[in-house]
Amino acid sequence: MKQIQIGGLVSFTTIDYPGKLAAVLFLRGCPLNCVYCSNPHLIALGDGEYDPDKVFDWIKARTGKLEGIVFSGGEALMQADATINYMKRVHDLGFSIGLHTNGFYPELLKKVSDVVDWIGLDFKATKQQYQALTGIDVVYDRMIESLKYWVSTGRGLEVRTTCDPRFVSKDDLLEIAKIASSMGVKNFAVQKYTPYHEDADKQTTPAMREQFFNDDELKKKIESMFESVIWRNN
Ligand code: SF4
Repeated sequence: MKQIQIGGLVSFTTIDYPGKLAAVLFLRGCPLNCVYCSNPHLIALGDGEYDPDKVFDWIKARTGKLEGIVFSGGEALMQADATINYMKRVHDLGFSIGLHTNGFYPELLKKVSDVVDWIGLDFKATKQQYQALTGIDVVYDRMIESLKYWVSTGRGLEVRTTCDPRFVSKDDLLEIAKIASSMGVKNFAVQKYTPYHEDADKQTTPAMREQFFNDDELKKKIESMFESVIWRNN
């Protein structure tokens, strides 16, 4: 079987898996091509820079020191069985498994639901903006299918929206929050967009990026829909 392709590793984090001390594996490969991608070097599958066996030994040595391992990317589920088998091995060591996902693979999500304890799911934009942002037209429907399924499992879930003002307005954010809330989402996160690379004619300003975080009325409305809302303004 093909080995998992690991393109990056963060050895310790308190913010990528809520409530857990964790490490993050960044897996190679992503079916999307988001305009604002902060990890474009991970989009192609290619060869992983990290030896999976050595990383596994490293994880094993963290037993008792870390509580969780997060599979991020790229899109971790794109490597399908290689990811699933590796997750199972890490889970068998006693770690909680977290997954950051864009929701593109609802069928694979079903296959990992017995080992993944928590997911952070991207709800990137309204349906109208999804294709322009991600480059593919079926992403929204797949993400909604993934969301519906994961809510039905009752497992840990955070839905997050990164507010790139070129694709998300304040009204859009409200609409996204309403949809997520109506689907049973309890934990929502609003994330500030960071301009890693922008075309000269489509540049955003700090005020455009900040607008989601200094509107008290908007904040109040969104916070009334969920048990918890995290405002990641950095
Ligand atoms: S889903 Fe994530 S990793 Fe994939 S292209 Fe979009 S931002 Fe990049």
